[in-house]
Amino acid sequence: MRNLLIVAVAALVNASAAAEPVLAPQRRLTVVFVDVERALSPLAASSLRDEAVRSLRGAGVELEWLRAEAREIFDGTTYKLLLVRRAPGGLRLRCAMGSVISGPDAPRAAWLYLDSVLTTLRLPADLERLGLAQARDLGLALGKVAAHELVHAVAPELPHARAGLMAAQMGRTMLTSTALPIDAATLAALRPLAPTAAALVAAPSAAY
Ligand SMILES: [Zn+2]
Repeated sequence: MRNLLIVAVAALVNASAAAEPVLAPQRRLTVVFVDVERALSPLAASSLRDEAVRSLRGAGVELEWLRAEAREIFDGTTYKLLLVRRAPGGLRLRCAMGSVISGPDAPRAAWLYLDSVLTTLRLPADLERLGLAQARDLGLALGKVAAHELVHAVAPELPHARAGLMAAQMGRTMLTSTALPIDAATLAALRPLAPTAAALVAAPSAAY
């Protein structure tokens, strides 16, 4: 197993150069979101959900978003999205904002690392100090990271894109932008009946 991760960068990136593709939803994905440490405010949580749904809809995936408590058990047919404060050791050093595990026995799960996202956004670690606009920005950022990681979970062979939602690195400007473009390879991989997607399913392994 290997971690697929997204790493934060301080550099500002122009994310508005490409237009967001408009596609009719072609694929459904059920996700159960768990705020393990109950860290998010209702505003940040709803902003996260809305952004994840919107980002994946742009990739042709209709997301069904459910919430659960950490102790609840899942049947394995849905993806679990777990928000925790701190990334584990090596990932924390790289300021990873999210990760999935790939491989034949990989869990259907993705992790979001709150502290890394707060650092990238230059927001205080104490969430009670966030104003409304900052809480909304936090949700926007987490929603994009969630969408990014869910694409990794669904299409583990898909490499990172040079820009947009599936870029390997995202800075503050990208994370809080209203929309990120989605590259053609990602769109093709998420199309249920495309040959590219079939090949991805047949030969899973980590992109990195
Ligand atoms: Zn990634």
